[in-house]
Amino acid sequence: MVAEVIVDISNSEVDRIFDYTLDGSPDDVRAGFRVLVPFGRQTVEGYVIGIKEKSEFSSLKPIIKKLDAYPVITEEMLALMNFMTKAYHLRKADVLRLFIPAQMRGGRVKELTVKYASIAEEYRDKDEMLFIRPSAKAQLDLYYHLLECGRDSVTELNKNFSAAALRNLVARGVVVLEEEEELRIPYSGINGDKAKEVTLTPAQSKVVNAVCSDGDGTFLLHGVTGSGKTEVYMRCISFVLQRGKTAVMLVPEISLTPQVLRSFRSRFGDNVALLHSGLSVGERFDEWRRLLDGRAKVAVGARSAIFAPLSNIGLIIIDEEHDSSYVSESNPRYITHEVAAFRAQFNRCKLLLGSATPSIESYYHAQKGDYKLLELPERVNKKQLPEMEIVNMCKEVYDGNNGVFSRLLVSELTECMARGEQAIIFINRRGYSSYMMCRSCGYVAKCEQCDVSLVYHKEENVLKCHYCGNRYAVLDECPQCHSSSIKRGFVGTQAIVEQLYKLFPDKKILRMDNDTTQNKNSHAAILGEFASGKASILVGTQMIAKGHDFPNVTLVGIVDADMSLHFADYRACERTFQLITQVAGRAGRDTKPGKVVLQTYSPNHYVYRFAAKNDYKGFYEKECNLREVTKYPPFSKIVRVLVSGESEELCSRTLKGIFDDITVLSRDNRGSFAYFAAMKSPVKRIQNKYRVQILMRIVSCFDKIIGNVYNIVDKHTVSKVSVFVEINPNNLS
Ligand code: ADP
Ligand code: ZN
Ligand code: ZN
Repeated sequence: MVAEVIVDISNSEVDRIFDYTLDGSPDDVRAGFRVLVPFGRQTVEGYVIGIKEKSEFSSLKPIIKKLDAYPVITEEMLALMNFMTKAYHLRKADVLRLFIPAQMRGGRVKELTVKYASIAEEYRDKDEMLFIRPSAKAQLDLYYHLLECGRDSVTELNKNFSAAALRNLVARGVVVLEEEEELRIPYSGINGDKAKEVTLTPAQSKVVNAVCSDGDGTFLLHGVTGSGKTEVYMRCISFVLQRGKTAVMLVPEISLTPQVLRSFRSRFGDNVALLHSGLSVGERFDEWRRLLDGRAKVAVGARSAIFAPLSNIGLIIIDEEHDSSYVSESNPRYITHEVAAFRAQFNRCKLLLGSATPSIESYYHAQKGDYKLLELPERVNKKQLPEMEIVNMCKEVYDGNNGVFSRLLVSELTECMARGEQAIIFINRRGYSSYMMCRSCGYVAKCEQCDVSLVYHKEENVLKCHYCGNRYAVLDECPQCHSSSIKRGFVGTQAIVEQLYKLFPDKKILRMDNDTTQNKNSHAAILGEFASGKASILVGTQMIAKGHDFPNVTLVGIVDADMSLHFADYRACERTFQLITQVAGRAGRDTKPGKVVLQTYSPNHYVYRFAAKNDYKGFYEKECNLREVTKYPPFSKIVRVLVSGESEELCSRTLKGIFDDITVLSRDNRGSFAYFAAMKSPVKRIQNKYRVQILMRIVSCFDKIIGNVYNIVDKHTVSKVSVFVEINPNNLS
């Protein structure tokens, strides 16, 4: 027999199937096993993806051994690998690496086993003086201890008793040792309380019934903030589990809060396995294995949990489906919705996308009938959505208020504090202030290597490059015109906190942003402190926008709404609308009504008008019309071919070759290209690598054209340059 093996080397030259003989192999190797194989003069790890009778090659080398006791890649995942390599132009080894915990490669993670000691059966009821000398006090101590407690771990025993005594008793058979696997459970402190019994609202029931009906297909659940989507998800998952099937639920990384975990554990207990970046290596490995061998049936996690090693999936849920984290930004690039659709189709199950602000693209599919639209238009128990008031900041400045807070926000905050309620202040940025700018000549401090603006960090009083991490001294004087009038860009979370303390010196104010959540548990700690009511105001960036349910929050202030509006991205308006709606949704979730104060320098922008009225559909219509006219997604797909390398000349030459061939392609498919151009990337250099790119917008025959683009890219890729093809990238810098 012959095994078809993909070697675990990320290199295009070996990105194919190699045959190895299984004759004489002592192991029962099958498709899906990881194996060790000879490769050239080395031995490397690889994946068996198939078994066949014969090879067309002669003198095959044998497989050395299998690496795990069980296969790690299922038949479904092999099919998924084929889909992903084709759709995203990825190497097989890179895709397979997504499917297993990274540290399994190279054997860097293992099961945790604990050794336990106990008294052997036949020595339990005997007179100990018959086999332990009365003078061997250490042995007697140990013996009595074990007799009393039944058993104890060797680690514990070695802390309190003599190791030599233990060795001696084990050697004589008085004490026996046994090994047991111990699971590493993430956030083991977060346990479900008794599951809350809630009766579904009629609207929720309707949604649950639709999702639990027979058949397959994709649903889009448009449910306003606080409409009880999580409860709907859990009911649907329960239904699926009752049928003996499994489920995957994806949430954006930052909305995977202790609250969510607690609800899921209280409903599904040990059936829940968690997969996300906050886990330790061992925890991830154990959770993954529980899913693989069926001990856990519900995978909850961020983007990469779509690769959960579950079989017999009955439902896949993508919560906050509009979130940009579902598009992977680094190699291997993939689009989570498409991977989910593939798995749903393979398992003949349903895919449920949920959001209060669906992406324009998903809503468009629902309008066209590709997805079935489900709606939860009201909050649970008909609680009102918060009232939103727009403040024109130009007028504030005109009236002589140069502070970061408008007069309205200050008075609302004052009242909110006086009522003993809580407030959230949202700011769209990290750090104390963003860039440093000369007020006289407009010079902006930039990274010498990366050509992007540096970010000022107050704690360390340095400028940092967010692309390469380089640090620079702050500017006292403009290097261009020598003026000393240096302005620090915008205010950030920390400055806001300082201002708030001036207004409310006796209130406790918390801050949550990238800088305060570097530790694994700091996220949960800050949210926990706010939830406990010990703090009155929570100031934060995007990460406070999502999913949190704080009943005592009645006021949300959006300090600098415009920030994401002026971003150079065709989705800037969509993202701003989503962000505002999500943040606003944190207010008034319980019995007390909520209020939102939105500060902007563009008070008449349609994004704000629709957001203030909670009019998602109005916004969708307007935005969708604009996209249709300008031929942006969903009316096209954007493709970027990014060429980068240390030699500017080589990059340009490679790009030119690709550009010329695509020019021919575009002539042959005239109607399909809405836009096509080559250019320097907005960030010209990152870590001393030059970047040039080609941008296209394809309106028809996408699969055919992208296939051709991949071929063209392959033809022109040479060593010393990297070429990436991205589809609808989040970020074009
Ligand atoms: P969403 O995810 O849509 O923003 P949540 O799922 O967080 O909304 O629900 C908001 C709140 O309503 C939660 O506290 C939840 O426990 C509660 N809830 C959900 N469904 C019901 C129901 N049928 N009856 C009572 N309370 C409910
Ligand atoms: Zn200057
Ligand atoms: Zn840099």
